[in-house]
Amino acid sequence: MKRTDVNELGEFGLIDHLVKGFKNHNKSTLKSIGDDAAIIKAGAGSVAISTDMLIEGIHFDLSYCPLKHLGYKSVIVNLSDIYAMNMLPSQITFSMALSNRFSVEALEEIYAGVKKACEIYKVDLVGGDTTSIPKGLALSVSALGYTEKLKDIVYRNGAKIGDVICVTGDLGAAYLGLQLLEREKQLFLNDNSIKPDFSGNQYVIERQLKPEARKDAIEYFRKSNLRPTAMIDVSDGLSSDLMHICKQSGVGAYLEESKIPLNAESKQLALEFNMDPVTCALSGGEDYELLFTVAPEDLDKIRFMPGAYIIGEITPEEDGVKLHTTGGNIHPLKAQGWNHF
Ligand code: ADP
Ligand code: MG
Repeated sequence: MKRTDVNELGEFGLIDHLVKGFKNHNKSTLKSIGDDAAIIKAGAGSVAISTDMLIEGIHFDLSYCPLKHLGYKSVIVNLSDIYAMNMLPSQITFSMALSNRFSVEALEEIYAGVKKACEIYKVDLVGGDTTSIPKGLALSVSALGYTEKLKDIVYRNGAKIGDVICVTGDLGAAYLGLQLLEREKQLFLNDNSIKPDFSGNQYVIERQLKPEARKDAIEYFRKSNLRPTAMIDVSDGLSSDLMHICKQSGVGAYLEESKIPLNAESKQLALEFNMDPVTCALSGGEDYELLFTVAPEDLDKIRFMPGAYIIGEITPEEDGVKLHTTGGNIHPLKAQGWNHF
């Protein structure tokens, strides 16, 4: 039998390949695979559902990620996908596969983080699954939200030529936080007497270990009667996530490098690592900010949105996805999201 390596397809190519023969049998399936969450008709409204898995050694490293933060983050990354549909999450399920390395006390720590996230984001833990695994730890969280206002739901495919591209906060910090944690871990492994030094870098560490989801943005949209035309959460990096909006909307984009929000601490740290802070924003990921597009007539509503930045404009598909650099050049943007394989 032919053997194809999954790397030949990449994460998104693999999913497309595996699900291409599937047809939906239910009219209630309003939105299937391909967005931040699926949308299912339920009674007078509809339910959004999203699932994410976190695996030890791939998504987290317990040598520097506290268990409580891990529990917190595993919930946040799922809530973020529901917010990205312009909906509010209301329930989660939490599943875990454990090896015998984990004590009750360790699991209590994870659950303390889950509880904190449930309290802050006002969501209910309604179930899950617990099983064993020969090695390591795997967590899987699903989040659900409900709305009766179907018109409020925002998909990745609604961006129109002339829409402005916006993002809710600075990008690249979570990636730089990870680089710093990895560097300090290696130093410590080489010489146990070296204590990790995170002074002056609290922001990037927190962005990596304890991200937040942008509930406030969805609340702002509601308050100001604003419906973005398309939206996605920035989990794979600005570049890859903007490409998803463009591909699904059948449009191009013009991104202004100078407008991409960067935190001062991130910029400083990027220099230390000999990296370009903009590249970190474009390709880093795990920022869990919301990337969205807004019709030009709604521009005034965005100007006064706290923490929101206008970073570009939607263009015709044939113009491609371009980055206008600070140096005045125009480059085609490449999607360089995470490759887990
Ligand atoms: P996100 O980054 O927003 O969590 P993903 O990139 O993980 O989204 O997934 C993109 C889409 O593919 C989603 O609709 C997701 O539900 C779907 N998907 C991911 N993995 C699988 C799979 N193994 N089988 C079916 N659908 C999948
Ligand atoms: Mg997402």
